[in-house]
Amino acid sequence: MIHANADYLKLPGSYLFSTIGKKVAAFSAANPDKKIIRLGIGDVTQPLCPAVIDAIHKATDEMAHAETFRGYTPDLGYEFLRNTIADKVYKKLGADIASDEIFISDGAKSDSGNIQEIFAADTKVAVCDPVYPVYVDTNVMAGRTGNYDEATGLWSNVVYMPCTAENGYAPELPAADQTPDLIYLCFPNNPTGATITKAQLQDWVDYANKNGAVIVYDAAYEAYISEDDVPHSIYECQGARTCAIEIRSFSKNAGFTGTRLGFTVVPHDLKDADGVEIRSLWARRHGTKFNGAPYIIQRAGEAVYSEEGQRQTNEQIAYYMNNAKYIMEGLKEAGYTVSGGVNAPYIWLKTPDKMTSWEFFDFLLNEANVVGTPGSGFGPSGEHHFRLTAFGSFENTVEAIDRIKKL
Ligand SMILES: *Cc1c(COP(=O)(O)O)cnc(C)c1O
Repeated sequence: MIHANADYLKLPGSYLFSTIGKKVAAFSAANPDKKIIRLGIGDVTQPLCPAVIDAIHKATDEMAHAETFRGYTPDLGYEFLRNTIADKVYKKLGADIASDEIFISDGAKSDSGNIQEIFAADTKVAVCDPVYPVYVDTNVMAGRTGNYDEATGLWSNVVYMPCTAENGYAPELPAADQTPDLIYLCFPNNPTGATITKAQLQDWVDYANKNGAVIVYDAAYEAYISEDDVPHSIYECQGARTCAIEIRSFSKNAGFTGTRLGFTVVPHDLKDADGVEIRSLWARRHGTKFNGAPYIIQRAGEAVYSEEGQRQTNEQIAYYMNNAKYIMEGLKEAGYTVSGGVNAPYIWLKTPDKMTSWEFFDFLLNEANVVGTPGSGFGPSGEHHFRLTAFGSFENTVEAIDRIKKL
């Protein structure tokens, strides 16, 4: 008889969002007259901008004629998109990234989940706590962790870097007795909305180069950066080409959550202990397991970098960040301790009166009919915290915050 993959069986159920769903459904059934406002979603709500829609229409028409029809896409992605990214993203930042170091994909979730498989089975992984769950779960599936401890909420054989109010929600370099090989960093951060400065990121790059570690830098929220000393790319740091992989997404900056497009940068200079080019393994994986993001969507991605596309997507980001500002100011007025919300669409608040994250979830649902996300769902250091997102409509955001202010 066949056996299921035992590493998959180690994973606890997707407790966070299913529990939220059940609680909201139960409340809604018991209180059908109450209007529930969701500030918990991590999905965008603004439609694709006109420049993107035009590109989709045009590319769709090309697919209708034999002369312009496109079949399988090139392995790394179309050159028009890779060249545009090299030019409009990296050259603009003064970062030295060639188009053949850019791999087009169907999004940052798959890339951040798949990247671990090009490293050895005994690779030691480090993550922030709290954290986007994909990094840990995919390493669990690959058999790279020990077991989950219900009591602590932690996996054995994983290095956790607590991000707390005390350190400004920025991870500290691992202690000397910890030796991670693969370090996942995500800034601006989901769930905390925190960022690190260019100098702080430089410390991580120096640490990785010194210790032969690789940083996977998830920059999905780069477009939300509003402050000057916050790096947009890890390749703004000296020496990042020899230690860093960067993952980007079109989901949060241009609303492609349902359209699917992202990319990963793996520089030629990134080598393992034996001098093997890591890029060649990612190229091999890409060629073997992925058949490319659709031509139509790659054209849509190209349109994001056009003048019109930049203007229109920046307007959408400004819309969400206006929500974030309303949430931040309203909660501060109501006496909450809040962070994030300046370079990210996430607001991270401390629960009042030492309430647990889940107690505060119930309180907010019952008393204000507002849904958010309990911080403890992202890791034990998220306990006594709560995440609100700026991805709703302005009207709903205002109504939700005004209700919270009245509590
Ligand atoms: C939303 C998000 C992504 C984006 O994933 P896609 O697959 O590109 O939609 C990646 N990383 C983090 C931390 C996110 O929150």
